[in-house]
Amino acid sequence: MDAPRTLADFLPVAEAITVLTGAGISTDSGIPDFRGPQGVWTKDPTAEAMSTIDAYLADPEVRRRTWRARRDSPVWDAEPNAAHAALVALERAGRLRALITQNIDGLHQRAGSSADKVIEIHGTMREAVCLSCDLRTPMPEILARVDAGEDDPPCVSCGGVQKSATISFGQALDQDVLDAAIIAARSCDLFVAVGTSLTVQPAAGLCLEAVDHGALLVIINAAETPYDGLADAVLRRPVGETLPRLADLALGAGRTTGR
Ligand SMILES: [Zn+2]
Repeated sequence: MDAPRTLADFLPVAEAITVLTGAGISTDSGIPDFRGPQGVWTKDPTAEAMSTIDAYLADPEVRRRTWRARRDSPVWDAEPNAAHAALVALERAGRLRALITQNIDGLHQRAGSSADKVIEIHGTMREAVCLSCDLRTPMPEILARVDAGEDDPPCVSCGGVQKSATISFGQALDQDVLDAAIIAARSCDLFVAVGTSLTVQPAAGLCLEAVDHGALLVIINAAETPYDGLADAVLRRPVGETLPRLADLALGAGRTTGR
């Protein structure tokens, strides 16, 4: 039997799909990409300096600015879009192995993806964490303190410096989270990278893990990526239209068998 090579051949029969999402899936929800032409860091280089852990710990003014930026983030008003919903549909049909995301906006869970399917390799801005005692607090509770006039709210338990539960530059990724992502890449039959430039490790290397372990690779991204040559299909089209169409194709063959 010939190996299936086209999307119409292999999408309907993929049974364990692992998806990796990046900033490009959330731009339709009004959350700017950090590194694109309209990106936050491109337009305001000091914003990137605010993301290094050393600057944050050393300089109270950086922390004050960062708390204001968190409070004013577009994430709090953002709604999930059609691409997020398409991944919920894949999960409900029992076809999603895992959903790895580089995004910190929590929109996959807001759309209805299960917390146990979502692997947030860069953390989440919907929680705050104390850098001294690791206490985690829902971010809205801390932002309410910022609104009430605390410009750098300390941990209520130990008085330590708090930040969003995200991976800043200079901070190591969580090894357990990374391990889960690698296992999800190695144990899928189809790996779909969506809205990510695949230039930030280790997320990018997950494509290689998947292909090395026998998965087919589909890349959906507006711009070229370093892994395009490795992919079975490359779709340089808007994520918000393309991912729902691929999900329809995957689900269209009546293989909605559940788990
Ligand atoms: Zn603490």
